[in-house]
Amino acid sequence: MSNLSTTLPRRLDPAKFRDPAITAKGERRAVVAFGGLRTLWVNTGTLCNITCRNCYIESSPRNDALVYVSAAEVGAALDEAAALRAPLEEVGFTGGEPFLNRDLPVMLRDVMGRGLRALVLTNAMKPMMNHAAALLALREAFGERLTIRVSLDHHEAALHDLERGEGTFAKTMEGLRWLAEGGFQIHVAGRAGFGAGDEAAMRAGYAALFTAHGIAVDAADAVALMLFPEMDAGIDVPEITEACWSILRKSPESMMCASSRMLVKRRGADRPAFTACTLLPHDPGFEVGATLAEAARPVSLNHPHCAKFCVLGGAACSR
Ligand code: SF4
Repeated sequence: MSNLSTTLPRRLDPAKFRDPAITAKGERRAVVAFGGLRTLWVNTGTLCNITCRNCYIESSPRNDALVYVSAAEVGAALDEAAALRAPLEEVGFTGGEPFLNRDLPVMLRDVMGRGLRALVLTNAMKPMMNHAAALLALREAFGERLTIRVSLDHHEAALHDLERGEGTFAKTMEGLRWLAEGGFQIHVAGRAGFGAGDEAAMRAGYAALFTAHGIAVDAADAVALMLFPEMDAGIDVPEITEACWSILRKSPESMMCASSRMLVKRRGADRPAFTACTLLPHDPGFEVGATLAEAARPVSLNHPHCAKFCVLGGAACSR
């Protein structure tokens, strides 16, 4: 008989992640200062054409907790970044499924017309294909300034479909092939630790798939094929204290929230707001202001995702 206590992960201690300044053990919690906006993320809205089993942002065809942001609202954020002389390099679009927002091509043209890079996170299914002509025109005008990052949870159809729904692998592969044939710069986002095998085996599996379908993505490149750790805020993780930076040999400047913010628009709100990062769009403790100037405040690492995903997991959401 197996011993369940050795096989099931321990649940999060409810005493942890309560006080933004102090950990459960009474130590000073780690804080990340803002060092200037290099990446602006835009959450285009939480609506999605599919419902994944473990979507960290709970997107679905019905969830509009974050409503569609408009091209004018994104333009205003870009204007403010320019007025603040922010060292902005890239604007990333995430959802939900960003291509469900009809303003996306206009937003992309605005971003790249300002000389910035654009990154779109998509499942490459029908909503993306509905914008095929606009996408080809953008690629023609801006070339490699545009990167499309396609979510493909696993290189095997059955495991991808287990997470995203029957038949989704085939549709996403169709979109990926279309992007490859069209000469787009493509990245792929998969999931580390999903299914059997270590990271090397995962990368080998993706490499074989890309070769078989003529998709020019280097599966050995950690940016071109990003493998994200699993995100479960209910599993126990250590809290990150000020002392952790030197113990772990990590610097606060390397955290996403040191150089990025995300624009979101909550259902019922008059105007958009900024969150500290892409990972915590719904937690009020991580909403940092209505303007980029206000949002330049330090962020206290008071959430399990800060520990698991950023400080300990080694992943980042940009490139
Ligand atoms: S989840 Fe990561 S990026 Fe977001 S606030 Fe925490 S440490 Fe910063």
